[in-house]
Amino acid sequence: MTNLGVDFPVFEPGWVWLVGAGPGDPGLLTLHAVNAMQQADVVVFDALVDERILNLLRPDAKRIYAGKRGGRPSSKQTDISLQLVELAKQGLRVLRLKGGDPFVFGRGGEEGMTLVDHNVPFRVVPGITAGIAGAAYAGIPTTHRDCNSSVTFVTGHGSSGEVPDNINWAALAKGAPVLVMYMAMKHLRRISSELMANGRAADEPLAVISQATTPGQGILITTLEKAADDVEREGVEPPAVCILGKVVGLRDRLNWLSPQDDVTAVRHVPFEQVLDLITAPADPLKN
Ligand code: SAH
Repeated sequence: MTNLGVDFPVFEPGWVWLVGAGPGDPGLLTLHAVNAMQQADVVVFDALVDERILNLLRPDAKRIYAGKRGGRPSSKQTDISLQLVELAKQGLRVLRLKGGDPFVFGRGGEEGMTLVDHNVPFRVVPGITAGIAGAAYAGIPTTHRDCNSSVTFVTGHGSSGEVPDNINWAALAKGAPVLVMYMAMKHLRRISSELMANGRAADEPLAVISQATTPGQGILITTLEKAADDVEREGVEPPAVCILGKVVGLRDRLNWLSPQDDVTAVRHVPFEQVLDLITAPADPLKN
């Protein structure tokens, strides 16, 4: 028995695991994700998976890239889902690795349903989603008792590439005190005007957190009205999440990271030291 005192699931051949890799910082991986990476025969991964995380794969594991690169269109979703089925039917342990959480704007549900249709057994390993992690690394709690009792995740991008037409802007503007917006950069101007047209204050604080939790993290604090212009002027690059709401103001007091928001500007201990703690034999006197 180790310090942790628990065992982890065996990755059986012929199974697919849909695993969230978190937003970037390898320290935000779950232990289930690390366990999956140690056992997988093949990994099908997305553009948003941080490269450093792939170092945890078995050296002989086959890597299949399923994202967008160099402006080429991304692999079609049905192709990816069917590829997972095919690999599993070959008797491989198939790791489907996604940025953030697989079930938050990650199409994990679609892939899961294809696996169900083809009788492929699967497991889901949640990951830390970029909206919550990005806010936290910027010193912004997504809920705070004095500010909001609900939080809403929105996507600014439908499958057509446009703002999804099933978003009820009036309801969001009136009923959602904190909006965590994914894939919102391209249409930020349209999104902010919809919210203001429906009664949201122009000077409401908005945070844009790009490459959240990575060494390239950037944080822009602006307002709903100025957001699109400021993003353009500062040349903020996706991936980025936008947080709109009173909670953004709490950053003034809660910005814990460093004055520069730099994730590298703190002292670090070797990863092995952290793992040693988990893998060391438990002290028999402790129990
Ligand atoms: N499943 C993912 C979201 C995938 S959708 C999750 O749970 O986080 C892709 C969008 O996620 C991007 O357009 C961006 O809005 C957001 N995103 C993903 N990784 C990010 C990161 N490191 N920093 C900021 N935004 C990120």
